[in-house]
Amino acid sequence: MNYDDLIRYLRGLGYRLTPQRRLMLEILQQSDYHLSADDIVQQLAVRYPNIQIDMATVYRTLKWLRVAGLVSETSLGKGHMVYTLTTHHQHHHLVCENCAAMFEIDPTIFDTIRAELQRRYGFAARLEHLSVFGLCRQCQQMSGSAPTLVSEEDIGRGEL
Ligand SMILES: [Zn+2]
Ligand SMILES: [Zn+2]
Repeated sequence: MNYDDLIRYLRGLGYRLTPQRRLMLEILQQSDYHLSADDIVQQLAVRYPNIQIDMATVYRTLKWLRVAGLVSETSLGKGHMVYTLTTHHQHHHLVCENCAAMFEIDPTIFDTIRAELQRRYGFAARLEHLSVFGLCRQCQQMSGSAPTLVSEEDIGRGEL
């Protein structure tokens, strides 16, 4: 969906499109990749220096777009949330819980799961943008069979 289609779609659902909502849609639509709320605020500030949109408004608007089914919210771990339009090209992540490495994976990998969930449970799963957490190949090799995870507590105590 291009920007005009998005606007038409949301109008069709009876939503009111405030200037803030339009600008955020524009940012999300033009981005090739997922964005954090911070990214969105930064891009808005660069493009529209005269317009004030605070973090609370950004989060509120993202929530509204999620309810409308246009935005997916994905955790990349440690509370790092990213957002992308569900109408965009799909991508998924593998996130290593040990070294925080992140890999993009073949988007078709969840097609079978999606089909199975529909077939067995009659459930239309939204799997547009997922993160799968675990250990990367390197960290598995380093730690042998037993993964040694670095806890946030250790980092806090500076014992690394
Ligand atoms: Zn992503
Ligand atoms: Zn790793």
